[in-house]
Order: sequence, then C-alpha cells, then structure tokens
Amino acid sequence: METRPGETRVASTPEVVKKLVSQGFTVIVESGAGLRAGYPDADYAAAGASLSDRASAYAVDLLLKIRRPDESEVAAMQAGGLYIGLLESCGEDVIVAAMLAKKMRVLGLERMPRSSRAQSMDVLSSQSNLAGYRAVLEAAARYGRFFPMMMTSAGSAKPARVVVLGAGVAGLQAIATARRLGADVYAYDVRPETREQILSLGAKPIDLDLGESGAGAGGYARELSDDAKARQQAALADELAKAHVIITTALIPCRPAPVLVTEEVVKRLRPGSVIVDLAAASGGNCPLTVADDIVERHGVTLVGLTNFPALIPADASAFYARNLLNLIEIMIERSDAGPQLKDLSADDITAAMLVPAAA
Ligand code: NAD
Repeated sequence: METRPGETRVASTPEVVKKLVSQGFTVIVESGAGLRAGYPDADYAAAGASLSDRASAYAVDLLLKIRRPDESEVAAMQAGGLYIGLLESCGEDVIVAAMLAKKMRVLGLERMPRSSRAQSMDVLSSQSNLAGYRAVLEAAARYGRFFPMMMTSAGSAKPARVVVLGAGVAGLQAIATARRLGADVYAYDVRPETREQILSLGAKPIDLDLGESGAGAGGYARELSDDAKARQQAALADELAKAHVIITTALIPCRPAPVLVTEEVVKRLRPGSVIVDLAAASGGNCPLTVADDIVERHGVTLVGLTNFPALIPADASAFYARNLLNLIEIMIERSDAGPQLKDLSADDITAAMLVPAAA
C-alpha cells in the first residue's frame, strides 16, 4: 500500500491482477491497498489475488509500487527481489543504495525511454496527462468567473484568458481541457516543435525569439543559458500579465524548474486570477508557489498541489496498472513452470530503466 501522505493511487487494479493471474503469476495484494482508489479487497480476491498483511505483500519476487519507498518499506522487501516503481530522485540515493545492498534489481519508471515502443508503458505520460486535466479543473473551480463566454438574460461574460506554459504531455492536456471549457487559450514552450501541436488543439502559440533553442536530448527540454532565461522572463511578462488563469508545467529532468512567472508578473495580474503550478515539486515555475499548499499572493491564488493524479485515483491507478502490465509483458517469457524473467539488460527499455549497481 502506498504510504505517502495524500497518496490515494494503487499500483495494480483488479482488471490487471486478473490478467497477471491468467499469465501464471501468483498475485498478493496488501489488504486495503486499493480502497482509496475505489478498488475494494473483494474485487482483488475475485480477480484471483490473495489478500495479505503488509509484511507478506512486500516480501515478494516482483514488487509493484507507485511512490518512492521509505526505509521501512525497503526493510520489508525481499532480498534479491525486483522493484518496479518511481524513484523520484536524481543522482545519489540512499534508498536505492539500500535496495541494491539487498541484491535487489531496481527498475526506475522515470528512466523509461521516450520511444514509440515504450509509449504504452510510460507512467510519466499517463499520469501527466491526468495532471494536466485536473489542474485546469482546479483552476476553474478557484476562478471567480466563467471559463466560457456566457450570454444570458442577466448579462454576458467574456471568456477567461488562459495561458499554458510548457506544452509537453501535461500542458497539451491542459490546453485541450481549457478549450473544452470554452476558454481563450494561449500556450508557450521552449521546444519549437510544440507550436504545431498547440495550434492543432485550437490554442494560440506565444512566439518568443530567445536566440537559442530549448530542445534537449530524448524529446525533453534543456536548461537555457542565464541570458536566455532573463530574455524569456522579460518577453513572457506582457503576455502573462493579460492572463486570468496560468497553468505552468515547464520541467527539465533532474534540474530545478525554470522560473517563468515572476513576482512582478503576479503583481500585474487582475485580482482573482489563478496560477496552477504543476512544477511545484521541482521548485515551481513561479517563485511564490508553495509546494503542497494553496496560497494567495497579491490577490492571486497560487495552487502548488504536487499530486494531481491522486485527485483522480481510480483512473490514475487504472492507467498506471495497465502501463505496468505492458511493461511486465516484455519482461517475461512463459514456461510450464510459470512466467520467467528475461535478461533485463537485453531489452533497450528495461536496460535503460535498470539502476546500475554502482548508483
Ligand atoms: P516534461 O514534463 O519534462 O516538461 C514539460 C514541458 O516543459 C516540456 O514540453 C518542456 O519542453 C517544457 N519546458 C521546459 N523548460 C521550459 C521553459 N524554460 N519554458 C517553456 N517550456 C519549458 O516533458 P514531458 O511532458 O514529459 O514531454 C517531453 C517530450 O517527450 C514531449 O515531446 C513528449 O511528446 C515526449 N514524450 C514522448 C513519449 C514517447 O514517445 N514514449 C512519452 C512521453 C512524452
């Protein structure tokens, strides 16, 4: 069961458990693990799982989890076992070192390559997609006006002007969701190839000339030079100051999130405006964001919640569980003795995810 405060998701669902059982796995589910996501123990039992206490659920050959484990979880894991889950760390990591010291193999889901073959296994994508959707609903609920244009007998309302910063998986879903709600949507990303995607969703791209490209390796962005960062903030300021709602999603792997919405910009926003900062866990795209909190600064609501998928736990868990099932399917071969693990270093996807023993 996920132990992080506020975590409501579960790494497998009865639907996926049933498929694993049909492939010859013996599946153990910690009692109550799916309750907060709407999956009761009885449904897991009906799918063929054994319900158990925490000690038995962790002491397994293959442990499926979502969030980075803590020390007590690592202590409960089986020596020589295989962990599949998020690590939520970059560089040296005592938790990963403790798993490796138990001769475990560790597959970190954030190391999954961004290839077309890996797409169906990519939890970062499935969860970012949900986060982009849920972030817009949060903004709409906290904004004191309509998103769509409204013409009624009691008068009319103009559509909200929404700016989405970062047009990756979360940002594109945020654009689509805000458009569905009828807002006027503007969007910006440092990777030039996103322009077409922004247009195809009916939003208006914000074009800036920074004098350098932000496209990095593997489809991700790279960190800009200090000069370009300053030019970017200045060039964005006037566009942002016209916004009523800003959804920021800009991230750079293993680096602090870029500051895109300065305090000066927040001061220029109309009172009642809302900023949802999806980069809050990495320091925020706005320096006024408080991670895991919702605060008001200069009359603007800043939402710094760091786990939007946990606010849609049933679907977030269903997508996560299917991603893991697709991953497990490339990792095993069937035999009369049950599913056997293939050589994880022989497949480009699992090889990339495998934490080197030296890490
Ligand atoms: P991410 O969460 O790392 O970052 C979110 C967005 O922030 C990115 O689009 C990035 O370009 C943008 N960003 C970073 N710095 C910025 C700045 N200073 N100003 C403005 N925007 C900034 O990215 P992601 O959503 O995980 O997606 C990254 C890329 O990977 C996308 O092209 C996506 O389509 C691709 N992708 C491919 C696969 C696959 O093929 N399996 C899966 C997922 C994502």
